[in-house]
Amino acid sequence: MREKLVDGFRNNIVVEEGLMAHGRGEAFDYLIGEKTTKEALNAMRSAVALMLLARRPVISVNGNVASLCPKEMIELAEVTSASIEVNLFYRTLGRELAIEKLLASHGAKNVLGIGSRSSATIPELMSERRRVDPDGIYAADVVLVPLEDGDRAEALVKMGKKVIAIDLNPLSRTAQKAHVTIVDNVVRAMPRMVRIAKQMKGMKRKELQKIVEFDNAKNLNASLKIILNGLVK
Ligand code: ATP
Ligand code: MG
Repeated sequence: MREKLVDGFRNNIVVEEGLMAHGRGEAFDYLIGEKTTKEALNAMRSAVALMLLARRPVISVNGNVASLCPKEMIELAEVTSASIEVNLFYRTLGRELAIEKLLASHGAKNVLGIGSRSSATIPELMSERRRVDPDGIYAADVVLVPLEDGDRAEALVKMGKKVIAIDLNPLSRTAQKAHVTIVDNVVRAMPRMVRIAKQMKGMKRKELQKIVEFDNAKNLNASLKIILNGLVK
């Protein structure tokens, strides 16, 4: 994972802050035991059901996600009929194009959010961080944000979107504000979600609606307990 991120850094895909964010993630991953927990799996099921029921699901991609699991992320978008939007905290056209090229090399066709396509704005956020694609996140009803910043996750919730986060830190603002938080490493969660989506794709809407039902606060507390119990042991 570190090698992939350093490669991404050298190719203008990952920023310095992304490397630091990965370090925070690794620390939590040690504490969780570097495995997918039952709680994370439950969150994934609810998240995938939400995406399959959505009218306009969008997966938001940043440099870390593009470097760590491009193939699986694109596959998840395909299985759930979601759009892919490049959405960077530290936005430059060069980085957007580098990420678009990387995703295209893994088979992504229509990548949203590049350059002037991001002409809509998320209310309450400042400067470049607020720009989104009017055909993507702006119009989405469900947004999957693997590794998102807390301010933006909160702003998306305030816009009325259902927000799914993948975040190893159950205490981050992103984890706390999202409707469904998957406390797991993106590299484990993405392929797992692809498998779940393939299994659920044939289900009736009624069945999916039952699976969507989910208590995020309760699930986050359970994830936190796993970390605490692990430490005590
Ligand atoms: P917040 O803004 O949500 O309060 P933060 O400022 O600590 O959180 P950000 O940089 O905004 O962190 O977001 C990065 C988040 O992604 C961190 O919580 C980090 O633990 C998590 N993270 C980093 N790498 C991974 C990974 N590979 N898989 C899952 N989560 C990760
Ligand atoms: Mg943050």
